[in-house]
Formats: sequence, C-alpha cells, structure tokens
Amino acid sequence: MISFDLIGNTPLVLLQSFSNKDVQIYAKLEQFNPGGSVKDRLGKHLIEMAIKENKIQQGDTVVEASAGNTGIGIALAANHYDIQAVIFAPEGFAEEKIAIIKALGAKVIRTEQTLGMTGAQVAAQAYEQSTGAFYLNQFDSKHNPDAYQSTLGKEITDQLDNVDYFVSGVGSGGTFTGVAKHLTAHQVESVIVEPEGSILSGGQPHAHDIEGIGSEKWPDFLSKSLVADIIKVSDEDAFNNVKRIARQEGLLVGSSSGAALQGALEIKKHIKQGIIVTIFPDGSDRYMSKQILNYKE
Ligand code: PMP
Repeated sequence: MISFDLIGNTPLVLLQSFSNKDVQIYAKLEQFNPGGSVKDRLGKHLIEMAIKENKIQQGDTVVEASAGNTGIGIALAANHYDIQAVIFAPEGFAEEKIAIIKALGAKVIRTEQTLGMTGAQVAAQAYEQSTGAFYLNQFDSKHNPDAYQSTLGKEITDQLDNVDYFVSGVGSGGTFTGVAKHLTAHQVESVIVEPEGSILSGGQPHAHDIEGIGSEKWPDFLSKSLVADIIKVSDEDAFNNVKRIARQEGLLVGSSSGAALQGALEIKKHIKQGIIVTIFPDGSDRYMSKQILNYKE
C-alpha cells in the first residue's frame, strides 16, 4: 500500500452514549483520511477525472475555491499526480487548514472574508481565464457528488445493514447528494443539516461559526427528490455537541460533526426505532486557533 491509498475506507462507529436499544446513531469518521477530512475523496476524484478527460496532464495547474478541506484534498492529489494547485481561500476560516494546504505544496491566495465563498469562486474563475489553469469548480461539477456515491455511500451499506436514516451537513452538497443517491436504492431517508444563516430551508444568508457547511444557493446537482427534510442547527448546539462527543465518545471532531450529531438527535426524538447514520467530516485539531474545545467559555 502507498500513502495515497489511505483515502477512503474510514471506520463507521456506533455512538454508544447517544444511542439506546431502539435507536442507534452511527458516524463515519472521515478524519481518518490522510488529509484529515471527507474532502480527500473529492480532491482525488476531481484530479483523476480531470486527467482522464484530458483537461490536465503532468505539470499543469489546477485552481479551486475552498475554505480549507477541499483545498487540502486537492493539494494531496495534485502532489500525487505531479500537478500544481492554486487554492483561493476566504479570510476568516481556521488558519490551520491554510497551513496544511501550503505544507502539501499548493499555493494559497486569500480572498476577502465579506465576499464569502462566492468571492473565492469568482477569483478562481478569473484566475482560470487569465492563466489557463484548469478550474475544478466543485460547486458546479457533477464529479463532486460522484466522488462519494460509490465510495462513501457504498462503504456505509457494506459496513452496516438496515440503515433507516442518513443525515449530513451540506456545504457544496457533494457529500449529501452522492451518499443519498446511493442510499435511496436501500430505502433510506436522507435528511440535510444546515447552520442558521444557510438558505436551503429559506431565510436570509448570514455568518455562522460552524465551519464547512452552509450554502449561499441551492446546489445545482442536488435534486430535491433526494431530500426528506432539512434541519437547522445553531452554532451553540453544534459546538456543545463537539464537547459532548469528546467527553462521551472520546472522539475529537470539527463543528460540522457537532451539527451533524444535532441532526441525528432531532431525528431520534421523532422515531420509535431505527438506525441513523451520519458523517463526521473532520477533526478538532484544525480548529484549535478557533477555540473549538472551549467555544464561548
Ligand atoms: N464539513 C466540513 C468540515 C467541510 O469542510 C465540508 C466541505 N466544505 C463539509 C462538511 C460539507 O461537505 P460538502 O461540501 O460535500 O457539502
């Protein structure tokens, strides 16, 4: 095995302290990927598809907009295939992720915080036009959900029988869409979690502290027929859950995992029995500068 083969096949664990004999909650621990998040799967797939479709070859440059984890995944895969990577990242997100992207050899260009992810996307697109670099464009690419359908989705049904509910956060929507597409064939209901300030279930967009999820527009590749429900989660509940998951489960996760657990707990409240699966996209380590383990203390 080589290090690049460490991407995927992550553990699926029972969250014992949040389950009982009637309702079990399981979490897929994506921090076990080599770049530390679910987005290693995306970086690998986007680069491999770009090579396969003759959009890039050895020595070429790709460009992408990312708040961090996708940038890390792309940097890992670009390294492996001898591709240069340039990542446009808005200010304001955890600096650890930026340091990791750079350590993996990619170039990072910062964009203004107030312009959000949209500002980073506009800048990445302009960079493509002015330099000829290939824009991977995770937010519009069908390769984004495809990166999860036959990997993360299939791993879940291989690892666990009789899943009833799938609940996951949505940023670009790739993780949710890919996994939900796989799971609909297994009679699973799929539920979205979004932070307050994300617009999928309506309302005006505004800033939130949960990192990695939240959408400024409905993703084109996310079919409404896949969505059984949308649950809004507050920053407070998500960060409290991060602390509970640490103490009760011995797992150090990021705030989008705290939000995902909140979604699972809301579903649990409304059912008599069943198996709920969620995704914990990354770990706490990359948010220490944001006081993730002592949020608002
Ligand atoms: N959690 C974290 C920590 C992330 O970095 C991301 C990706 N932005 C997500 C969740 C959401 O994943 P997706 O873009 O596939 O919706």
